[in-house]
Amino acid sequence: MTSYKELGLVNTREMFKKAVAGGYAIPAFNFNTLEQMQAIVQAAVETKSPVIMQVSKGARNYANGTILRYMAQGAVEYAKELGCENPQIVLHLDHGDSFELCKDCIDNGFSSVMFDGSSLPYEENIRITKQVVEYAHAHDVTVEAELGVLAGVEDEVASEVSHYTKPEEVVDFSTRSGCDSLAISIGTSHGAYKFTPEQCTRDPKTGKLVPPPLAFDILHEIEKRLPGFPIVLHGSSSVPQDEVDTINAHGGKLPDAVGIPEEQLREASKSAVCKINIDSDSRLAMTAAIRKHFDEKPGDFDPRQYLKPARENMKKMYIHKIVEVLGSNDKL
Ligand SMILES: [Zn+2]
Repeated sequence: MTSYKELGLVNTREMFKKAVAGGYAIPAFNFNTLEQMQAIVQAAVETKSPVIMQVSKGARNYANGTILRYMAQGAVEYAKELGCENPQIVLHLDHGDSFELCKDCIDNGFSSVMFDGSSLPYEENIRITKQVVEYAHAHDVTVEAELGVLAGVEDEVASEVSHYTKPEEVVDFSTRSGCDSLAISIGTSHGAYKFTPEQCTRDPKTGKLVPPPLAFDILHEIEKRLPGFPIVLHGSSSVPQDEVDTINAHGGKLPDAVGIPEEQLREASKSAVCKINIDSDSRLAMTAAIRKHFDEKPGDFDPRQYLKPARENMKKMYIHKIVEVLGSNDKL
């Protein structure tokens, strides 16, 4: 048993309380590589932002759970080395799909876990979430639950259609499950193809897809029923078109990739939404920089030569999200 406290990590409780009260959101960036981790820590330290570093089951399988635990500990020590006296870093399990996986993460240094029972029948979702909450709270670990189904694909999580969260269920669900935060479905979506061209309109000037707006009416109804309760948005990458264009200009093939417009996420950040998940944007920033580098310098074969610009590009993106979209800067 390794407690996250030994690793210098924190849970989300105080962080979310401050974010809801302050009208901003904490960035939750997925990571599985050293370069992503370095870029996340550098961005958080430079902007004085709390940060959630999250890993999915797939990331854990890719990078190895033990290594990830020490990377999170390394992230805390690295932040201190960069001059941050009191780093606020959470290690969070994204989309835990069983009690056993959540328990294993809690036993191995995670300070926060998500149990995603959104695809289960309602009562079953409550039952397992509650089981996770009881174990987690005994170890002072916080728990995110999910109600409503997001469309899109992310590692093992996939659904063709979304089902918006029903506001009339949120009080019963959060009270009976005891969860600390709730991921809801209001039209965000996993992956780099969040909407089909049929769901979008096209900007006549650029020919780019314009996605349908998020269901803010549902968000506001949920906020009314659960005042001050931390709300989470998954699938909230913006899929920056300049990165998509760079990828496509250098041999990539991502036609009609489309994300959530940043002005909508900016608006959501000011509400009870206090955690916004961003994964695809990091993948795109990394891929764009690497593709460009390979295209321009075909003779390079030292990984540092192309991973350095990839890391820089991700860092730039993380800083942009923190300062221009979520507003979590200058909070340490
Ligand atoms: Zn998700």
